[in-house]
Amino acid sequence: MSFESLGLGPALLRALAEQGYAEPTPIQAAAIPVVMEGVDLLAAAQTGTGKTAAFSLPLLHRLSQLPPAGTRRPRALVLTPTRELAAQVHDNLRDYGKHLRISATTIFGGVGMGPQMQALRRGVDIVIATPGRLIDHMQQRSIDLSGIDVLVLDEADRMLDMGFLPALKRILAALPKRRQTLLFSATFAPPIKALALQFMHEPREVSV
Ligand code: AMP
Repeated sequence: MSFESLGLGPALLRALAEQGYAEPTPIQAAAIPVVMEGVDLLAAAQTGTGKTAAFSLPLLHRLSQLPPAGTRRPRALVLTPTRELAAQVHDNLRDYGKHLRISATTIFGGVGMGPQMQALRRGVDIVIATPGRLIDHMQQRSIDLSGIDVLVLDEADRMLDMGFLPALKRILAALPKRRQTLLFSATFAPPIKALALQFMHEPREVSV
C-alpha cells in the first residue's frame, strides 16, 4: 500500500515525502479511501496510530479539489477536546498542506478572543476548535458555520468524558445538515455510538 494508490494529489505526496512518511499506517490505509468517497466515517484509533493524518490528508485533498469558496466562510471544522490537541492538529495540517493554498486557524480558550475574531474575519478554510470556545464565538456571531462541508470530531470519547456533550449538540445543530462527518475515538463505547446514530449519516466503521 502506498500513499500514491490512495489517490492523494501531488502536492500532498510531496509534503509526505518531505515528512519522511514511507507508507500509510493501518488506520490511514483503512480510513483515507472511505473519507475520499465523501461518506461519513466512524473510526476507532488510539493516539500514536497516525489518526491525525488519516483525516487531515483526505480533508486537505478534498478542499484542494473544490473550487475556491468565493466567500470567507470556513469549509471544514475540526473539534478537539484540548487546546494542546488543537495546536497539534493545526501543526500537522500546516506540514501536510504546505504546498497547497489552504488556510487554517485554531480557536481555543484561555487566550483572548480578539486575535481569533480577526483571523476568522480575514477568512479561513479550516477551523480547529475546542467546543467551549467555539460556542463563545457562535454567541458573539464571530463565526459563520453555514459553509461547513466537513466536520471532524477528534478524540470524541475524551470530549464526552470532559463533559462537552451539551456543547457538541449545540454545535452540531448549528452546522449544515448536508456535510461529511468523521468521528475518531479510542473506543466505540455506547455514548459514542449514540452520538453517531444521532448526528451521522450511515457511517462506515473502521477500527485498527
Ligand atoms: P497521531 O496518531 O496522529 O498522533 O500520529 C502519531 C505520529 O505518527 C505523529 O508524530 C505523526 O507525525 C506520525 N505519522 C503519522 N503517519 C505516519 C506515517 N504514515 N509514517 C510515519 N509516521 C507517521
